[in-house]
Amino acid sequence: MSIDITISEVGPRDGLQSIERIMPTAAKCAWISAQFAAGTPEIEVGSFVPPKLLPQMADAAEVVAHARTLEGLTVATLVPNLRGLERAVAAGAHKVSIPFSMSETHSLRNVRKNHAEMLAEIGRCVAFLDTVPDAERPRFEVGLSTAFGCTIEGPVPESRVIAMAERVTALGADEVGLSDTTGYGNPVQLRRLAEGIWSACGRHMLNGVHLHNTRGQGLANALMAVELGFTTLDSSLGGLGGCPWAPGASGNIVTEDLVWMLEAMGLRTGIDLERLLAVRAILQEALPGEPLYGFVADAGIPKGVGPVG
Ligand code: ZN
Repeated sequence: MSIDITISEVGPRDGLQSIERIMPTAAKCAWISAQFAAGTPEIEVGSFVPPKLLPQMADAAEVVAHARTLEGLTVATLVPNLRGLERAVAAGAHKVSIPFSMSETHSLRNVRKNHAEMLAEIGRCVAFLDTVPDAERPRFEVGLSTAFGCTIEGPVPESRVIAMAERVTALGADEVGLSDTTGYGNPVQLRRLAEGIWSACGRHMLNGVHLHNTRGQGLANALMAVELGFTTLDSSLGGLGGCPWAPGASGNIVTEDLVWMLEAMGLRTGIDLERLLAVRAILQEALPGEPLYGFVADAGIPKGVGPVG
């Protein structure tokens, strides 16, 4: 079935990484299987960070191996550096994303690398991928994180984001992504950033956006992204992970609500909303007490309206 918008489910990575309690590997695999069965075309299943820094992701290779058995699923992962990329390739990921924080302060605090050092690391990643046989080479995306603003630095100049996208393009990344890591973004800012990157790097270099709903702007930004022509939107089931500094706010935009909006607009996601809502039970059982968000889950699917499934 052909789809108009690819929803990339990032809950097993972005949602879980901010939760202390470790979700058992079997439950992660059950979640991924169920969400694939509901029609999700792409899932970011884990992160290849050092296990001692993030025990939640220690089983990333096992989870990728399981996800690879689901025929037709694009298996995405996140890596912080070349070492993580090597592990992701060995595990068999189809798509790898490395976050590159547009706030240098955030970058130093997060991965202890300034911008020059991150660009050098990205260059090493591209050089490594050149040695990987085509059949095993994942698509390599650089996620421009904190592109809309940073909790430490505050506003991030748009000219810097566009310049960094150009540098990354010149280094040979397959694509860049725009990430509103902190939930600072607004739709007009998204349009300016997208148009700036498209004119500097080429339209093909930016197709995906990673939105958070920290300040309730997630779906407004998602609508702008769709109208601009973005084809991949990240979201997480139940907005898992929440936001540590905004109680009651979901983390990523909520997959169920995003599917509802897109399908109600007549855009095909390939996802069966009823089956998707049922997947929440797996999270509730494996992570009891962990808040799950979502207006559609709370209000229900209106009778006789909407999703074509
Ligand atoms: Zn995120």
